[in-house]
Amino acid sequence: MPSDSALSIVWIYPDLLSTYGDQGNALVLEHRAQRRGIRTETVHVRSSDPVPETGDVYLIGGGEDRPQILAAERLRRDGGLQRAVARGASLLAVCAGYQIMGSTFGGEEGQPVDGIGLLDLSSARGPARAVGELVAEVDAALGLPTLTGFENHMGVTRLGPGVKPLSKVVKGVGNGDGFEGCYAGHVVGTYLHGPALARNPALADLLLSWRVGELGPLDDTRYEQLRQERFSAVMAQ
Ligand code: GLN
Repeated sequence: MPSDSALSIVWIYPDLLSTYGDQGNALVLEHRAQRRGIRTETVHVRSSDPVPETGDVYLIGGGEDRPQILAAERLRRDGGLQRAVARGASLLAVCAGYQIMGSTFGGEEGQPVDGIGLLDLSSARGPARAVGELVAEVDAALGLPTLTGFENHMGVTRLGPGVKPLSKVVKGVGNGDGFEGCYAGHVVGTYLHGPALARNPALADLLLSWRVGELGPLDDTRYEQLRQERFSAVMAQ
């Protein structure tokens, strides 16, 4: 990113995929960048519009089965997100957005629906809806603290060799095989809502640092209070 330009945050398809406050992820990124003196510019790309290829950090959220299918079709036809990721953009894909990044996912009747094939994974309908708090320990290679969030999905996700599990589940379901989420290059997929970046500001900094380099620390007292409150509540269950 040139030092004189604003960091471009792209929120994909607010009209289709915007459940559980996932849009808060954009606010957290803006806030954490701005507190480091980095100017930001956030673009909300509706599903009728092309996805720009020159953004820095892309976000896509969760949604119901029907809008998820529509979003997958439009993203595949558009190709802008795929080109942006190929250029090195960061991407956080949550829940329905995460499933869409794979080769296939389960539709509203469980039928296989094509994803966009950006990540080496596939999803299908699981035996039961996974609903509740999720706690997971992140892959040590990423150096991030324990993840917290909540999940609400029918899908289970199987990872291929082209991606690494993001974390190991301590509480909750995640991918359905003991792991939660995945990462590859500058792309992170996860089932975490919360929104994920408000619950896990270190994950926000990871996405930012992939574009702007090392970031100085911030006073995260309020984030930490929220995290500790959630960990205590989950462990008391
Ligand atoms: N429709 C998908 C599922 O149930 C995703 C749900 C969501 O995004 N919350 O698995």
